[in-house]
Parts: sequence; C-alpha cells; structure tokens
Amino acid sequence: MKNAKNKKKNAGQVSWAQTLRLHLRAIRDIRRICPHIFTIYALDAAVKAVIPYATIWFSARIISELTLARRPEVLWPLVAQTAAVAALLGLLSTVLSEKVLACGRSFHQYEQKLYTDKMFSMDFADADRQATHDFLFQIRQNANWSGWGIHNIPSWFRQILEAVFGIISALILSASLFTLPVPASAGKLTVLNHPLFILLLLLVMVLITAVSGRCASRSIACMSRIGEDVKLGNRLFSFFLDLGMVQSRTADVRIYEQINVARPYWEENNIFSTTGPISRVSKGPMGLYSGLSAGVSAIFTGFVYVFTCLKAWAGAFDIGSVTQYVGAVTALSSNVVRLFKAAGSIRTNASYLRTTYEFLDIPNSMYQGSLTTEKRSDRDYEVEFQDVSFRYPGTKDWALRHVSMKFRVGSRLAVVGENGSGKTTFIKLLCRLYDPDEGHILLNGIDIRKYDYRDYINLFSVVFQDFQLLSQPLGANVAGRADYDEERVMKALADAGFKDRLAALPKGLDTLLYREFGDDGVNISGGEAQKIAIARALYKDAPFIILDEPTAALDPIAEAEIYSQFNQIVGDKTAVYISHRLSSCRFCDEILVFDHGKIVEQGRHDDLAAKEGGKYYELWHAQAQYYD
Ligand code: ADP
Repeated sequence: MKNAKNKKKNAGQVSWAQTLRLHLRAIRDIRRICPHIFTIYALDAAVKAVIPYATIWFSARIISELTLARRPEVLWPLVAQTAAVAALLGLLSTVLSEKVLACGRSFHQYEQKLYTDKMFSMDFADADRQATHDFLFQIRQNANWSGWGIHNIPSWFRQILEAVFGIISALILSASLFTLPVPASAGKLTVLNHPLFILLLLLVMVLITAVSGRCASRSIACMSRIGEDVKLGNRLFSFFLDLGMVQSRTADVRIYEQINVARPYWEENNIFSTTGPISRVSKGPMGLYSGLSAGVSAIFTGFVYVFTCLKAWAGAFDIGSVTQYVGAVTALSSNVVRLFKAAGSIRTNASYLRTTYEFLDIPNSMYQGSLTTEKRSDRDYEVEFQDVSFRYPGTKDWALRHVSMKFRVGSRLAVVGENGSGKTTFIKLLCRLYDPDEGHILLNGIDIRKYDYRDYINLFSVVFQDFQLLSQPLGANVAGRADYDEERVMKALADAGFKDRLAALPKGLDTLLYREFGDDGVNISGGEAQKIAIARALYKDAPFIILDEPTAALDPIAEAEIYSQFNQIVGDKTAVYISHRLSSCRFCDEILVFDHGKIVEQGRHDDLAAKEGGKYYELWHAQAQYYD
C-alpha cells in the first residue's frame, strides 16, 4: 500500500541526470532562438551581485575611519569614491535591467514561435489531433501559472549566477574574519583563534545553511504536488471565464443562458479559493518549509553576529569591519539558500520541461516523396483510389472502407451521402492531409506518397465547410499574401459572385475583414464569407478545385448564380463538390454515393435517380418531396 503510494508520488519525478539533460537541451534551444539572452543576463547578474558588497566594503572603510583615525583627507576621497562607485554600478544595473526586460519580452515571443513553428511543420494528422492541442494547452498553462517549462530558464540562470557571484564576493570579503587573530591579551577569548574552533564553527554554519536551503527547495518542490490541480483549474477557468467574452458564442450564451453552466465553475469550483487544494498546500507544507528556511537563516545570522562581535570585542579588528563581516557572511548564507531554491525549481521544472519536449519531439512520420508533380500545361491528370481504407488515429471504426474509384481532370465530380458517410474524409485523403491505412491513391499511375508533399498539396484548392478567413484586408485574404495581383483578385471575387458587394466597400480590396484589428473592419455575413472563400480557391488556380458544401451558406439566388456560372468559372480544372443539395449534382459528369464509409454507387444523375432501391434514389426522393 505504502509502496503504491510512493510510486504514485514519484510518477512525475525526473532523475537529476535527466533534469540536467533536459535543461541543457532547453539552454541550447534558447540560445538558438535568442542568441544573446544568456550574455545579457550574466552581465546583469554580475553587476547586481557586486552592488551590495561594494556598499558593504565602502561603508566599513568609512565607519572605521570615523571611529578610529578620523582623517578628513582620507574620509572625503572615500566618500567621493563610494558615491562614484554607487552611481556607476547603479547606472550599469539600470541599463542592464532594461536590456533584461527587453530580452525577456522578445524571448517570450520567440518561445511562442517555437511552438507555432512546430504546429506548422508537424504532420497534419498530428496537428489535427486533440491530444496535440492538449499538450500545447498544458505547456501554455504551465508557463502562465508559474513560468514552468522553458519560460523561466533564463531568469533562473540569472538567479544562479547572481548567487554564485554573491558567494564568491562574500567569501573574499569575509575570509579575514576567520584569519585575523585575536591578540594574546584577550585571555580566554584567544580560543577564537584555535583552528579546531574555527573548523567547528564553519561546520555549524555550513550545516545551518544547508538545512535552510533544503527547506527552501522543499517548499518549492511542493508546487509539483499541486501541478495537476492547477492545470485542471486553469483549464476550466480559462474556458468558463472566457465564455462571455468570445464573440462567436455571444448569441448562444444569451439565448440558452449558458451562464448557468459556467457559474458553478466560477463560484463552487474551489481550486483557487482560500480553502482549495492550492491554498491548502501553500498554507500547509509549502508555507511551513518556507518559514523554517527563514527561521534557520535567522539562527545563522545570530551565530555570525556573536562570533564577529566577540572577535571585535577581543580586538581582532575594528568596528567598521564588524559591519563588513556581518553583511558579507549573512549575504553568503542567503546566496547559498538561493542556490538551493534554484536547484529545487530546476528539479520541479524538469517534469514540465519533459511535457514541452514530448510536444516538440512529436515525429513527422508521413513519407515525404521527392517526385515533382510537374505543373502540366495540358492539366492532364488522372486520380485513382485503389481499395483505400482509413481510420482516424486513435479510433476503432473505419471512416473509409475499400474505396476504389477513378476520375480524370476536367470532369465534374459530385460526392454525396448522409452525414458521417465519409465524404470529407475522402477529400482529406485525396489532398494528402492523411495517408490511407490500406490501399493506394494514385496520381497519373504513381502513388501520391512518392510526390514532393508541398508540390502535391499545391495541386488542390479546397473550400472546407469550416473554412476560416483572417481579420486582414480582403485582398490579402483572397491572395493569401499581402502583395498580390489586384486584377486577378478582383476577377476571382467577381467569379465567386462578390462583385457588387466589393463595389460597395469604400476601401475595396483594402477593406479589413472583421473587427479584431480595428473598428473600421467590416463584419461580413456567412454567405459573403463563403463567396470570399470560393474566390480564394479560384485565385490559387490549382488544377483541382474542391468545394465542401460550396453553397450551404448562400441564399437561393446566389446559389443559382454560382451554379450557372460554375462550369465557366472552373474551366478546365477538375471540380469536386460535396453537396447535400442533389439538384446541384445534375450538371456533374460523375456522382459518387457514399454510405458508411463505402462508395455504394457511382454514375450520372439521371441513371442513379432512376435506379429504384439505390441509395441515391432514396436521397433524391427524400429531398424531392420538399420541392414537389
Ligand atoms: P461526412 O463528410 O460524410 O459528413 P466525415 O468524412 O466527416 O463524414 O466523417 C466520416 C466518419 O469519420 C464519421 O464517423 C466521423 O465521426 C469520423 N471522423 C471525422 N473526422 C474525424 C476525426 N478528426 N477524428 C475521428 N473521427 C473522425
């Protein structure tokens, strides 16, 4: 029982060797994305570490001079030097602090880019997977709630360096505390000179510092215990707190009073409340260890005071040096504690870093071919599905099963079937967003996996049902870039039925879509957005144009307009339409009828509609009754 408990507790623990490896890798990555960050942080740490010791050293000299020799010719230059050094260090420190802030900001941006680049470069199948988005969400949450992951490594590096520089400076300033002897006239106090006494004292000091440091690092390690609670808490809160703020949800939230679903999460879910698990750990073991660390540190300071004052009392050094020694040794101890704290943070961080690298290491397993698709001027392509079967990753059911078909470029292909019958999946496989689990897809007789991936994908213009436009100028949306051929963009928009609306826009192609980036943006309707998406597909001028429910959001007049012009618009390209409105299939050369992941019929409208008992017949007559 106890063993099982321990196992569970240690499940998230990472060994020190692994901790080191993960952090070294993160440091290499940080240097790659932000090359100067460690140099600037190191300089800042060095200056910040020297400042207190410079102050201690000069104050000690001034106090000694004031209490002993009292020579104005020494005192004034000393004061001037103190002020000059303080001013110089202050100046340096401020300039470096600003640089550190600027570096931190750009590092944050580059860190996000690391994840974005990964999302862009991974196989579509992984980018589309919920588990990948969960990973990304976790990484962001870990960084947000306490800077875990790659996020805080530069500032920990700075803290460690500050502590190391601080320890070195303190050792230099405090060495003579132990070496300056008490004069023989001090009687019993000469015991302070005895090497054994000094060794014992040093041992006690090291022990106290170690205990204090260990308590501090344990306090930080408590964070990993509540990591899972925080992750869940952040997740629920960011969703439910955002519920009222997401524009696309506003109408649903109002009509269905979804606030009632959200409220319990705000009011009753007590993860972040003062009685919740996070507060319990903060007030309990975390606070206790942190308090113990501070208390033990105070004992240490007491020891140093007693020892230093006894030596000064016995005449080993003057009163000015007391300030120096007490200041230096206390700072020494607090810097050692800081080192322990940093070590604790790094150990805790290792498990978060592991999550980060599990995401960044998702392999690209899709075969990347090398054959070029040679943009043929005759656009003579033939596509063939040979016994293709496919299951979405992590699912048991076949989304497509034994699909075989063939079509030539220039033809008009309609894909019909009930919801969930496999139409969109068929398109996704055709565009190579996914690879089949069984069978082959051929382009001009060659397996599409053998073609260069980018080249192959560029053969397709697709308007997916859930297409997305950006809050960018209209022209850039259509062209997919900021610099574009205006004539071609306008033609594509006109072909897609957007000509009149474009003429009514005062800024024309420069009109900003939606209002995310400015009040002068235009909120377009679903139908208008669909026309722009169609124009975008036409502008790409790829040999295949695929439209998933191309007119679902269009009014009947716009739909009729588009269909009457489509043959001419599409020209010599191959058009594939997924459509629920079977009347729109009449003008297609070929119709594929999907049912439960299989092609159950293939042919022309008139033949299929006349085949009693067939799936198309059933679908056609089910729709026709509404139009009779
Ligand atoms: P259609 O376009 O005909 O409505 P789809 O091709 O979208 O159908 O879906 C076919 C089947 O695959 C359905 O059972 C659907 O639930 C499943 N499916 C679709 N997309 C995914 C996905 N990303 N992950 C898992 N299953 C999916």
